[in-house]
Amino acid sequence: MTRKIVAYKALPTDVEAYLRDHAEVVNVDPKDHAAFVAALKDADGAIGASVKISSDMIEGAKRLKALSTVSVGFDQFDVEDLTRRGIVLTHTPDVLTESTADTVFALILASARRVVELAEWVKEGNWKASIDETLFGVDVQGKTLGIVGLGRIGGAVARRAALGFRMNVLYTNRSANEQAEKEYAAKRVELDELLAQSDFVCLQVPLTPETRGLIGANELKKMKPSAILINASRGPTVDEHALIEALKNGTIRGAGLDVFEHEPLPADSPLLAMKNVVALPHIGSATHETRHAMARNAAENLIGALDGTLTRNIVNRDVLAR
Ligand code: NAP
Repeated sequence: MTRKIVAYKALPTDVEAYLRDHAEVVNVDPKDHAAFVAALKDADGAIGASVKISSDMIEGAKRLKALSTVSVGFDQFDVEDLTRRGIVLTHTPDVLTESTADTVFALILASARRVVELAEWVKEGNWKASIDETLFGVDVQGKTLGIVGLGRIGGAVARRAALGFRMNVLYTNRSANEQAEKEYAAKRVELDELLAQSDFVCLQVPLTPETRGLIGANELKKMKPSAILINASRGPTVDEHALIEALKNGTIRGAGLDVFEHEPLPADSPLLAMKNVVALPHIGSATHETRHAMARNAAENLIGALDGTLTRNIVNRDVLAR
């Protein structure tokens, strides 16, 4: 029987051709929920991103052996449930690390130097004389960067910060990152100390039950009033309501955000009207090169998982031990 793969995201032509060399490919629009669920019923595998796959969607999908997400984050899946069902979940770490770290640094620089706000100000025709200090920003070089979750992407941010911008790097993790300590003099501290000492607090943890709402009103109060919060992890790691209040009240200076509680960001979000907020449309890994590499990687992960030859990029390794 020919294997069937459901693609619930548009893939580059060559990547789709690669999949078609190995299986029958059915393209579905995940917005058509019923068609998506129906397609999964007799599929061997599925590939896509940014859509929650709940257990009721795969109930009765007896042939389903592997799911491949075109992302490193896998918060859209109930991993334990997949493992129970014997379904392998694969993801795409590493290929997106550098471009996502670039996005983080773009947010740091744009927030500190008010790049977006001032570029809009110029385009609106306001530049009539030399600017005065009301439009000055703050330095990035030499400041303290606190990274909450120093893993692959956090490590690439730490490298830019320590070696490129001579910043002091603090971090929190459940376990030490010895490489970052050795190469970037990163110092592991408790979250409270990181919040109190950092000029930029940058979140790069995965979204899990422990990290949901990790930064709320109490944590924001512990930050310096001059500090900037950067979030390019997942929106719900920050209590967005508390962040909005903190930005309004001057509890912190500003925020650079790539991710939000609800995406796309609703048109009535107060964040859109705040000059001290740089808001991006979840572009962490969104370059032509990186998105192509992620799609290729995810396609190879899926075929490898279906063939039983995949040895890396597996989220739920324990499924293989069954
Ligand atoms: P990673 O290598 O697994 O790094 C995650 C880090 O977070 C690890 O150092 C981990 O260290 C730490 N961590 C995990 N749980 C924690 C907790 N409860 N408390 C404190 N630290 C914790 O992952 P990555 O490749 O860097 O990716 C990180 C996340 O970035 C992804 O999960 C994804 O959500 C997000 N992301 C966003 C975009 C975007 O477009 N904006 C793009 C790519 C990735 P310990 O295990 O030692 O705690």
